[in-house]
Amino acid sequence: MKKSLYLILALLLLVLAACGNDDAAESNEETTDSKEVNLYTARHYDVDDELYKKFEEETGIKVNLIKGDADELLERIKREGDATEADLFLTADAGRLYRAKEDGLLQSVTSDLLDEQIPENYRDTDQMWYGLTKRARVIIYNQDTVTPEELSTYEALTEDQWNGRVLIRSSENIYNQSLLASLIEIDGEEQAKEWAAGLVNNFARDPEGGDRDQAKAIAAGVGDVAIMNSYYFGQMLNSEDAAEVEVAEGLGLYFPNQETTGTHVNVSGAGVVKTAKNKENAIKLLEFLSAPEAQGTFAEANYEYPVNSAVEPSELLKSWGEFKEQDIPLSSLGDNNAKSILIFNEVGWK
Ligand code: FE
Repeated sequence: MKKSLYLILALLLLVLAACGNDDAAESNEETTDSKEVNLYTARHYDVDDELYKKFEEETGIKVNLIKGDADELLERIKREGDATEADLFLTADAGRLYRAKEDGLLQSVTSDLLDEQIPENYRDTDQMWYGLTKRARVIIYNQDTVTPEELSTYEALTEDQWNGRVLIRSSENIYNQSLLASLIEIDGEEQAKEWAAGLVNNFARDPEGGDRDQAKAIAAGVGDVAIMNSYYFGQMLNSEDAAEVEVAEGLGLYFPNQETTGTHVNVSGAGVVKTAKNKENAIKLLEFLSAPEAQGTFAEANYEYPVNSAVEPSELLKSWGEFKEQDIPLSSLGDNNAKSILIFNEVGWK
């Protein structure tokens, strides 16, 4: 009995030793035979981690996660240069993905599956990055003091009736930079600047806090309307914090510019790093995250819209109704980013 145990142990050790040798041999190679992918991600959602686990189970490719703030991660990839371990960079906002591209940190990849799963307007024109989840920047309003009939467009929030009633976060935030970039693309620089100045004029307070804090400020009576990303409203409605649920239940969601230029949308997305040592694995992960199953999970757990049109949004998102989106390439958000920062400074949007 004891003897056979030793035999099994000895065999196990042999197998382990063999595996170890394999790894050593592979790590010397430049190509993509290794069974891992190094993901630098600025997203910090539990649902993402669950999806990576599923990917590992399905493919045997291990996902090594480096989490951080988007700009820090970009700096890190730059600093590490050719020696960087990063294979894939994932972050919120097309404006940031554009920065990674402009800084020469990404490479163009082709995949029929990615082309099939991700519509053209949600990916980079040079295939340097691909959108994975979609969000709308909507108007959230106090149901006691505002009727949806009073609302119409982003532009209309600059009118006198909204004086001292508008809540929105700081212009340092990329979501606002991208919103203004979209208005520059659609209305031109002059009109976009007028809008920014008009909105500042109607601010309920100096910008502070994140998107969710704008909703909370409505509940606290600081203002009546807020511009914020759709998924935050979903998160609040489903929060474990009863106070957040109560706040959200007193609010309504409105898709602006439905009769005109459409509601501003943006994506979370990812691009393969220029020096990726596990390029094929990185593409496989992109393909997995844009496939119907992962897209459904994103929508269900995080209240984001799927980019894959074969996938239906979750029940909550469906209850908000369908909406018309801005008809501009997302790459224009990056193209106009510098201009929007300049305008924000000029009009004194903190
Ligand atoms: Fe966000």
